[in-house]
Amino acid sequence: MSKRQSDIHANLIITGHTLETKIFRIKRKYIDNFGLYKKIAICVVGLICIAVSGLCYGLLQANSQKRALQANLVNLESQLHDKTKQKKMQAIMDNLNEAQTTLERIENYLNARSVETAQISEVPDSNGIGGGFFPETEETLNLTEDRLDKISDLLDKISRVPLGIPYNGRMTSTFGLRRNPMGGENNEFHTGVDWAGKVGSKIATTASGTIEYAGYRGDYGLCVIVKHDFGYETLYGHLSALKVREGQKVKTGDVIGLLGNTGRSTAPHVHYEVIHNGRKLNPARFIDMD
Ligand SMILES: [Zn+2]
Repeated sequence: MSKRQSDIHANLIITGHTLETKIFRIKRKYIDNFGLYKKIAICVVGLICIAVSGLCYGLLQANSQKRALQANLVNLESQLHDKTKQKKMQAIMDNLNEAQTTLERIENYLNARSVETAQISEVPDSNGIGGGFFPETEETLNLTEDRLDKISDLLDKISRVPLGIPYNGRMTSTFGLRRNPMGGENNEFHTGVDWAGKVGSKIATTASGTIEYAGYRGDYGLCVIVKHDFGYETLYGHLSALKVREGQKVKTGDVIGLLGNTGRSTAPHVHYEVIHNGRKLNPARFIDMD
């Protein structure tokens, strides 16, 4: 029986290094179409290559965009952080400026009363924040500590300067020339301030210090003299009773005696003097703080 042309097989014999010999039978039509198969295979491989290339290119593009977005995000976060930091720093600088103004006012009060105060460093100009000057946090903390130390120091000094009044009564006589209260025609120089009140009312020292004198002293009657720092002394006259003894330490507001009518006095009142290095000053300067 003869086979048709198309059914004829080609025998492919492969001999290896072993003794075996393999025989593959390939149909004739496959051999005839080998050129076509080859073209199709090349086309398929080509298409796959193009697809893979496109995919790779797309992936590269996406990666590059992702990196750019990440960089942008980091940049935005950093800008936001800077803005928040700047706002915080501005608030701190505002507070420091306010503290500086208050400190300067207190220093002026004290300097006007011959109390020396150490100069404090200036608050750096914060107007340039956002573009120019931007202080380091550590520097700002140092400035804050510097001012807190200064405030504490000034408060201590203030407590040692006679400020305010020894008794909250009706002021009946001020510092300076006045008509003789005892009825004479002549004028006299009044060396303090008088406040009228009830006998037995509490009289308080206007600053911390040491009792220099507590006893009877001529026209002043029963009298207390307190020695303070910075060359200051205060005197409280016409008392009805003493509440301290000489050499005793007192704090601002401590009761040193009771209001009375002793000595050269026409009615119950307290006579109050502020003395600086032996000179009698107008106590009003130490009352209204101007
Ligand atoms: Zn007086």
